[in-house]
Amino acid sequence: MPRALMLHDESPRARLETLDEDRLPERAVRVAIDYSDLNYKDAMAVTGQGKIVRDYPLVPGIDFAGTVTASTDARFDADDRVILTGWGVGERYWGGFAEAMRVDADWLVPCPRPLSTREAMLFGTAGLTAMLSVMRLQEAGLSPGDGPVAVSGASGGVGSWAVSILAHEGFEVHAITGKPDQGDWLTRLGAAQVLARDDFTERGRPLASTHWAGAVDTVGGQVLANLLAQMRYAGKVAAVGLAGDAALPTTVMPFILRGVALLGVDSVYIPFERRRAAWQRIAALPNALLTHMQVEEIGLEDVESQAHAMIEGRTHGRLLIDPH
Ligand code: NDP
Repeated sequence: MPRALMLHDESPRARLETLDEDRLPERAVRVAIDYSDLNYKDAMAVTGQGKIVRDYPLVPGIDFAGTVTASTDARFDADDRVILTGWGVGERYWGGFAEAMRVDADWLVPCPRPLSTREAMLFGTAGLTAMLSVMRLQEAGLSPGDGPVAVSGASGGVGSWAVSILAHEGFEVHAITGKPDQGDWLTRLGAAQVLARDDFTERGRPLASTHWAGAVDTVGGQVLANLLAQMRYAGKVAAVGLAGDAALPTTVMPFILRGVALLGVDSVYIPFERRRAAWQRIAALPNALLTHMQVEEIGLEDVESQAHAMIEGRTHGRLLIDPH
């Protein structure tokens, strides 16, 4: 009988429970979960922030990787290694903070070789989203010769993978962080410069001195507004997150006077083929990128306290969850 972290709409909110098999959702593919991880959205769900959880009780966890143990869908067989990210799992549907889960076949992608399921979750939604951001910038025409690329929220999951992948792709990366003590690590990931978040949080002019050809923004709010104001002519900005603020206090000036492009990135509902393409690019990255990532491995019983730490901005790198 699988153990799971269950969220309730009454105190205590998060409880570790052992589930009878027949309590798992009636869906086509049963997966034995090897690893999940803690994302910002999971932290919001577990701590009750925002409106992430649609129905209680709910097993949170927006992503996981594991091995199929049973399937009534012809696309999957027992022993297949699979990855699930997004599709409302961990928000609307029961998710990955469990030893096993039954899910829809449409939500799964094969775990591409040579990635192990642990490595897949070292990337997780964060790494997938970083890769989708890089793909979006490159498809818009950004190349290393255009100039430096800024990454905000650089010490976070999406941010740190964005630094790492952009540097691997040959870009000069400027990492913006609120954690000066993580500067050495960000440099090891490939950042050419580490900049203080405080320099981006004051309200600035609609157009400022130009610095960057590209940007990956995971913070939103004034930080994104200032990045837009500081983009070079025809600069490209991937808008990914709202760790700072969902508002965007900007003007049309960067767009109409400098031709700046603001590119939205969504990892939740991207179609299967693009998802698979992104995972294949991730699987082709050199192993050295994984060795530089900071990882803390935690159990289901640690999720609630780490979720609070994440919301308070006290975490960095990746929090991998071994549910066993
Ligand atoms: P993390 O918590 O791992 O990283 C967020 C980082 O943002 C922190 O490490 C910190 O970096 C910075 N930060 C935290 N709080 C604040 C604050 N109040 N003001 C400014 N900066 C802050 O989260 P994830 O990497 O998992 O997610 C980052 C964002 O991207 C979230 O908003 C998440 O919802 C979103 N997201 C979007 C996806 C999509 O599909 N579009 C998919 C995945 C995530 P530092 O200290 O280095 O500045």
